[in-house]
Amino acid sequence: MLVLLSGCFALLSGCTIPSPWYLSPSLELQTIPAENKTLLSPYLRTVHQFKGQLHCHSRASDGSGTSEEVVDAYKNAGYDFLCLTDHSHVTPDPGVEGILFIPGVEESPVYGHILGVGITRKTNALQFAAIIQFIQSQGGLAFYCHPNSEQGYGWTQDELFCAPFANGLEVLNGNSVAEDKWDALLSAGWMTWGIGTDDLHHIPGDLGQSWVMVNADSLTPDDIIHSLRNGNFYTTQGPDLNIDVSGGTITASTSEPSTFHWIGWKGTTLRETSGINNDTYHLQGNEKYIRLKVQRERDHKLAFSQPVFVE
Ligand SMILES: [Zn+2]
Ligand SMILES: [Zn+2]
Repeated sequence: MLVLLSGCFALLSGCTIPSPWYLSPSLELQTIPAENKTLLSPYLRTVHQFKGQLHCHSRASDGSGTSEEVVDAYKNAGYDFLCLTDHSHVTPDPGVEGILFIPGVEESPVYGHILGVGITRKTNALQFAAIIQFIQSQGGLAFYCHPNSEQGYGWTQDELFCAPFANGLEVLNGNSVAEDKWDALLSAGWMTWGIGTDDLHHIPGDLGQSWVMVNADSLTPDDIIHSLRNGNFYTTQGPDLNIDVSGGTITASTSEPSTFHWIGWKGTTLRETSGINNDTYHLQGNEKYIRLKVQRERDHKLAFSQPVFVE
């Protein structure tokens, strides 16, 4: 096994951390002038907000429920959409009414799992680069799974840097948090988003740990994937989050008393306030990016905004 793993790593070595600072080849971000800087915000105005699950398994891989039971459980829990992501298998839509089904897969080579959201074909490729390119060539989104998994399926920082650009990573996989890996990618100039998922294998025990709230004009696969691609969503274990970016300020609110952590380059704490429902961050100009983590005081549940970039 050791030989195999070191062989895999050799395939990935020799990478260079990209420049210039932020790579945003085709992202739709709002450009907001702020004194002598520019803020790039993913929070574009849309008509609706939809609750979604992006990572769950059925009996087609190692889940305990049929695909119909899994989709039905999310529908009954009030989700608007779901992406079923069996290991190395695209499970077809079981046809449950009342919830949007988005096809997907959890590409599961030897180690280093990658979610493919919005795709109908899987690949047999083992190399991370080929997997991510295959997913994105179909118009799908690629997310690094459980970066801080304690079961041997996590990603080291070197592996993340050596893979090409995924659309984001699971900053929340159930209760596993990967802020360190997210800040490492953001601080190296990767414009990447943080999603939250259940990685559900068992109903109902795994359901409802972490999810995404997506701003979109309509509940269609195209609109949901468009907003996920461009970071127009937030990630949560429960707290709601409203974000408004204008001029040199970012204003955020949630409905219960919480601690607001404003975080910048290399995970630096920019500002922290407790026992409040809303807070405003004033741009200093040297942050490079600003993201918000809200922790609800009642139960310590987390919510994450996507980063706003400072140019
Ligand atoms: Zn996995
Ligand atoms: Zn999984």
